[in-house]
Amino acid sequence: MATANPHKVHEIAAILHNFRIEPRPEGLGDVVEDGDTLADNARLKAVAVCHAAQQAHPGAGAVADDTGLEVDALDGKPGVHSSRFAGPDATDDHNVTKLLADLATHLDLAERTARFRTVAMVRFPDGQELRADGVVEGTIAFERSGDGGFGYDPVFVPTEGDGRSFSQMSDDEKNAISHRGRAFRALAQLL
Ligand code: IMP
Repeated sequence: MATANPHKVHEIAAILHNFRIEPRPEGLGDVVEDGDTLADNARLKAVAVCHAAQQAHPGAGAVADDTGLEVDALDGKPGVHSSRFAGPDATDDHNVTKLLADLATHLDLAERTARFRTVAMVRFPDGQELRADGVVEGTIAFERSGDGGFGYDPVFVPTEGDGRSFSQMSDDEKNAISHRGRAFRALAQLL
C-alpha cells in the first residue's frame, strides 16, 4: 500500500479484506506528485512503491490513490492541486479558507456544486495496471460545520446525504458514499 496515512490504511485495508495488505515499505521517501492528472499521480506512487516492495514481496502489486475536489464555479479547481490549493505548505484550514473566499460571490447553493473524485490503482511489476474511479457529488457550504474528517470535509455537503457535511458524519456514514470508498470497492471487484 502506497499511503502512509494510518486512517486511509485502515479504511482501504477493510475494503480489500480478501487480499493480504502490507504497509508502505520503510525507508521509501516521499514520491513527488507532479503529474497533470489524478491518474498520473496515483501511477507515480504505485510505480515507486511496487518497485520498492519487490525484494520483500516478489510479484506483489502496489495500491495507490489520488483524490481531488472539483468545484464547478472554479472550472474544476482545485482538482489535482487540492492538497496545496492555498500554497505549497498549505494546511487543510488554509485550503478551506481559500475555497470559501474564492466562492464568496456565489451566494446561491446551485452555484456551489462540486465533487470529490478518487482514482484508485493497482500496479504490478510487469506493468499491468487496474484502475477504478469513485465520485461523490455535493455542494460547498457557506461555512464550516462538524469536527470529524479532514481536508475539505467541514464544507463538503454530499447531495445524497441529509444536509450534514462530511465532518458531521461518522466514518461509516462517510465511507458508505465517499469517493474513496466507491473507488476502492470498484477496485476490489476488478481484482
Ligand atoms: P489525497 O490524494 O488523498 O492525498 O488527497 C488530496 C487532497 O484532497 C487532500 O489533501 C485533501 O485536501 C483532499 N481530500 C482527499 N480526500 C478527502 C476527503 O475524504 N475529505 C476531504 N478532503 C479530502
